[in-house]
Amino acid sequence: MSRKKIIAGNWKLNMNQAETQSFLNEVSKKLNQNDLTQVQALVCPTFTSLATAATAIKESGLTIALGAQNFSQHKSGAYTGEINTEMLKEIGVTHVLVGHSERREHFSEDDSIINDKVKTGIEAGLQVILCCGESEATRESGETDAWVAGQIEAGIKGLELNDFASRITIAYEPIWAIGTGKVCDSAEANRVIKVIRAKLAELLDQTTADATSILYGGSVKSSNIDEIMGQSDIDGALVGGASIKVEEFPALVASAAREASKTVA
Ligand code: PEP
Repeated sequence: MSRKKIIAGNWKLNMNQAETQSFLNEVSKKLNQNDLTQVQALVCPTFTSLATAATAIKESGLTIALGAQNFSQHKSGAYTGEINTEMLKEIGVTHVLVGHSERREHFSEDDSIINDKVKTGIEAGLQVILCCGESEATRESGETDAWVAGQIEAGIKGLELNDFASRITIAYEPIWAIGTGKVCDSAEANRVIKVIRAKLAELLDQTTADATSILYGGSVKSSNIDEIMGQSDIDGALVGGASIKVEEFPALVASAAREASKTVA
């Protein structure tokens, strides 16, 4: 089954407008449009850098998608400090991250908020990347599979099959591997991703599960991406630290493109 390959950069709280402009100018020179036809490359800057990124991407002429790291589940009203999906779409945002462990941990986003955000994103016509992943303690207690399956079930609760098809991507990100340099063994990441796919098949159907791209995230960089992309069920990567390095991001996209061309061949 050939699924869409995706390399998504989560810039987190990094890069102001000037840095965004210069990063995308530099990266554009190193990215290859042939690779970008085989791989969906996505950057998720901070809110204040989104418009700058949209312009820089347009000027580059390259097929790079623009994502937001967060948004409100509310449409409008008395929600000080929030930004809604229409405001994002107005800038050119097509993708949103939901359920990143840093939002769950530092901003108390629970499964119910995450489910609301998934639904809001889908209703708005955005592509949703739903993140899941276990803590070190959960892994050590042998509960990884049940934990991750539970996060997926809660995250997609109430969605119709049609909502799901090609609109949702899952990112499996073991928390202990995020920003730590401790990459999850690729065979183990592949195993957990198979568990996620089996859960999707149980909750939706096998065809939808087989068609859903599932990414790995956690200390991905150019030195480990080939091995990760070589796994049967890993369809790409959600990348933090390496995604804001000019040399790294294009190397990650190129690796995913090499893997995509093998799948096609
Ligand atoms: C992330 O922010 O989703 C992430 C995986 O970060 P890093 O690549 O730095 O581990």
